[in-house]
Amino acid sequence: MKTYGRKDLPESAGVVILGGGLAGCAALLAAVEDGHDAILLEATRDIGGSTVLSSGLSAYAGTDEQAEQGITDSLDLLRDDILATGKGHCDPELVDLYVENSIDTYRWLKGHGVRYGHVHAASGQTVPRSHPTDTSRMLELLIEAAEPLGGRVFLGVRAERLIREDGRVTGVRIESARDTVVRAGAVVIATGGFSMNRDLLDRFAPGMAKAFTAGGAGNQGDGLLMGWDLGAGVIDTPWIRGTYGIYPSDHVGEHGTGIHAIYKGGIAVNAEARRFCDESLPYKVVGDHSLAQTDGITHQIFDQRVLDAADDEVAIFDFRGRLALGMLEQSDTLEGLAEKLGIDGETLAATVADYNRRVTAGEPDEFGRQYQAGGAGELFPLDTPPFYAHPSGTVVLATYCGLTVDTDMQVLDVFYEPIQGLYAAGEVIGGFHGAGYMTGTSIGKSGIFGRIAGQRAGAYAAGHTSGSDNADEGASA
Ligand SMILES: Cc1cc2nc3c(=O)[nH]c(=O)nc-3n(C[C@H](O)[C@H](O)[C@H](O)COP(=O)(O)OP(=O)(O)OC[C@H]3O[C@@H](n4cnc5c(N)ncnc54)[C@H](O)[C@@H]3O)c2cc1C
Repeated sequence: MKTYGRKDLPESAGVVILGGGLAGCAALLAAVEDGHDAILLEATRDIGGSTVLSSGLSAYAGTDEQAEQGITDSLDLLRDDILATGKGHCDPELVDLYVENSIDTYRWLKGHGVRYGHVHAASGQTVPRSHPTDTSRMLELLIEAAEPLGGRVFLGVRAERLIREDGRVTGVRIESARDTVVRAGAVVIATGGFSMNRDLLDRFAPGMAKAFTAGGAGNQGDGLLMGWDLGAGVIDTPWIRGTYGIYPSDHVGEHGTGIHAIYKGGIAVNAEARRFCDESLPYKVVGDHSLAQTDGITHQIFDQRVLDAADDEVAIFDFRGRLALGMLEQSDTLEGLAEKLGIDGETLAATVADYNRRVTAGEPDEFGRQYQAGGAGELFPLDTPPFYAHPSGTVVLATYCGLTVDTDMQVLDVFYEPIQGLYAAGEVIGGFHGAGYMTGTSIGKSGIFGRIAGQRAGAYAAGHTSGSDNADEGASA
């Protein structure tokens, strides 16, 4: 994979894409496949952003992998699940766009060599549809496919302002000692979210003050601010949530993400050794409940049967990997486990006994839990020693809110009017998830919408050729 530095920057390009995560790489390849001139600028020294730190799960329905596992799914069910998880706050047109383009994008990615592993159920899914993949490899494949078609990637190039002339975005100003400008026929903002910008988090999500944060180092909200600066609408900020399950001293995600033993049949207890919610709920909701407990730190409790359901291909289910890293406490008795956690052993034993009794009797759970995760997976009693515990905090991994866009991925201003020449895709957009996030739809939307943004921005740029002078005279940011 060949990349370029700042000194190689051209004076102009048809489409200038900001950000080298999945949305940006998909946009780059889609634009050049349609015969357009396109370049990608990445602020940091590496491609990847949050995409390569992620668990790599994409949500599709009706795939080869699901068929091989005998999973019956459909586009209608996918749509219903996304809308239900978003609690009526999703833009239904964006949800339709995702659903209608999902299988085509899945096949496009597979056609470029992307491979998916064993499909799992996770948050918000009534059937298993989390497709794991190696995201670093996925981005390499997209860039390698774009190269022979003229797509080039520039590293260490941070865009700092958009340039608008005569009502149209015509370029990007680059952060540098010199006033460097790259002119563009169209610009795609694919700069990811702002999970690594505590000031923006405090502004939009004060409830996350006790949460840890993780994400790509460059995920500072630059694209959001650049769009906002030109009058773009910003939507879904009230729904920023943290993800439950991160190991407290690993909140920077050195070992990937946290784990979700709760979604394989485990339970979660607080510092008082008591359960506090229905653990099958989306992990953002479990995160909210967990942040309301003492110190915001709780424990996932499970037994050998749950451990045996581990899958080392999927970070959130790699329980054995965490055991090897010393991140799980282990004991033959619940009392012994509690002692290691510094919580009350008698209460923990009573909590588990009560849970087991209800599960065995098929009695309604005190929090309404019926499934392992979402609407899938049968519950079973936690009675097979040894018992395990994973101390768990809540971490903001992604922000799921941002710029308003239409179904061409064109950025809309505060009055829902298109900003000419400006497109956006990936985590930087809002409107799609609404009040809740179904696992796999953030990577899913980066691929699906990134591809659409590249196509549409390419078509726009082809109709609006930009000047090629690398001067910023007359340009206004
Ligand atoms: C630990 C973790 C686990 C996750 N697991 C999942 C999962 O399993 N499934 C799922 O759907 N989602 C998951 N997510 C969320 C998901 O990974 C992201 O939402 C998604 O990958 C975002 O893709 P993107 O291309 O929009 O942004 P990113 O991949 O974050 O890429 C954005 C890029 O833009 C660059 N950039 C920023 N500002 C500028 C600028 N001014 N100029 C140029 N470049 C800039 C950044 O450096 C970055 O490289 C997870 C996130 C994390 C952190």
